[in-house]
Amino acid sequence: MDSCVCAALAVRDHDAAAVHVSYGQRTEERERKSFLAVCERLGIENRLVTRNDALRAIGGSALTDPNIAVPEGHTIGQEIPVTYVPFRNAHFLAVAVSWAEVLGAEKVYIGAVEQDSSGYPDCRPSYYAAFNALIRQGTKEGNIEVVAPLIAMKKAQIVRLGLELNAPFDLTWSCYQGETRACGKCDSCRLRLRAFEEAGAKDPIPYAA
Ligand SMILES: [Zn+2]
Repeated sequence: MDSCVCAALAVRDHDAAAVHVSYGQRTEERERKSFLAVCERLGIENRLVTRNDALRAIGGSALTDPNIAVPEGHTIGQEIPVTYVPFRNAHFLAVAVSWAEVLGAEKVYIGAVEQDSSGYPDCRPSYYAAFNALIRQGTKEGNIEVVAPLIAMKKAQIVRLGLELNAPFDLTWSCYQGETRACGKCDSCRLRLRAFEEAGAKDPIPYAA
């Protein structure tokens, strides 16, 4: 849902192109389907669909290693959970920045959220500031900037913003484990359900009973 609202913002303000990275995560097929449907609805024609085989081979996360269970019902935000995929967002951003150089794009939008989320270290503002310093050093023109417009927002605010922008929440997928119905129990489902409830809105995707 965060990526979708972020994409809706990018479309509102720019001529947008969209990148997808499958990385061997449990719900990879469902997420790719959502990516394509969201692009279609938002009118984003320029799309790059890629695969990262390294993250699955490396493992170390409940999302990429079938032997590590996705936690259900623990306290969110106490410590970095096992659903953290080691240094994942840097892989995504590396792909996006490489493509931005080729397209001549100057902004790379990412829907990272710091507060009110799982506490992943690659969702901190300092991480993006450091990444931007890297881009300035490591690209031809040095003029590409990663922006994370949702980073300081609460999840309920993101739902409200999405509704204002007509972001297609019905096409999104957040669950870490279900692909036909969202489980409603993993951290991602729980944060999402709480956000819709706090925003006084109904989450349009199907949940297991
Ligand atoms: Zn779930």
